[in-house]
Amino acid sequence: VRATRGGEEVRAYVPSMGQIFLRRFQMVTQFRQALEEGQVSVHYQPKVSLPSRQVLGVEALVRWVHPEFGKLDPDEFVPAIEAAGLIGVLTGFVLEQALIRVRKWMDEGLRISVAVNLSVRNLSDLDFPKKVVEALRRFGVPAELLTFELTESGVMADPQKALPILRELHALGIVLAVDDFGTGYSSLAYLRQLPVDEVKIDKSFVLGMGTDLGDLAVVRSIVELGHSLGLTVVAEGVEEDIARDQLEAMGCDVAQGYLISRPLAEDRLEAWLQARTARSAGRQAETVLTL
Ligand code: C2E
Ligand code: MG
Ligand code: MG
Ligand code: MG
Repeated sequence: VRATRGGEEVRAYVPSMGQIFLRRFQMVTQFRQALEEGQVSVHYQPKVSLPSRQVLGVEALVRWVHPEFGKLDPDEFVPAIEAAGLIGVLTGFVLEQALIRVRKWMDEGLRISVAVNLSVRNLSDLDFPKKVVEALRRFGVPAELLTFELTESGVMADPQKALPILRELHALGIVLAVDDFGTGYSSLAYLRQLPVDEVKIDKSFVLGMGTDLGDLAVVRSIVELGHSLGLTVVAEGVEEDIARDQLEAMGCDVAQGYLISRPLAEDRLEAWLQARTARSAGRQAETVLTL
């Protein structure tokens, strides 16, 4: 691709269709081996309550450092894995890592929940709830400490298939969240029909709300709608103090974003949690705000 900028020619590398196809093919065929070789890991991004800023839980986000391609973006490889019918393998890996992490916290006396992202294809597996129950049992983690995040468009793609499985998961006590809310085309009213506990406002609105009144209006109406349906409202993409303050003033329940923390590898998350615990212990005496 060529373009001119200030009279100077600029060339951007754009891969051809063939190259994209080959790359996806390699991702898919190499995925299992990548898991075995430790190229795939899970990072965790904290979620804090507003206004107390207490850490409620973390979201598990898959990471793949490929020997040839380097860091792969989950928005690229997750859909490829999904299309190849391997999402069960990916979700199984992330879920297991996440439950091991929660178990360790439980053993330290900490009650921190974990959220795992699901693909709509996970819900095509009728045995999925059974597998989840087995995993919870294996690690001795109560269902209440596990959240599943599903995108709005994912659930609405095939509600007939998704609903019975979601109901089953919900009946087990697992917390269900609608991710990236506001980006789909469905009406807000459909939320009422889903067995969900939590709605996550898509980060595009949260990122835009400081400069765009339309985004601000969307955020405000999701908070109101969520609350009128008795749901916990989470804002993702909280990058600025101002956004957090606005969300807090609106009554948004939970915040997640770079302002609080980026997704962190397990050891860095542990250090982050320890630093915060130490700070909040000191805060009682000094009333210092930490975020
Ligand atoms: P998501 O579940 O909506 O996750 C939020 C994404 O926003 C993450 O990108 C996160 O790193 C990023 N993010 C968090 N805070 C901020 C912020 O303050 N500003 C900005 N600009 N971005 C922020 P990530 O990790 O690249 O993941 C992208 C998507 O890939 C996820 O969106 C999710 O849909 C999918 N994904 C990630 N891990 C998994 C997984 O284990 N399974 C499945 N099925 N999908 C996954
Ligand atoms: Mg998510
Ligand atoms: Mg999201
Ligand atoms: Mg997303």
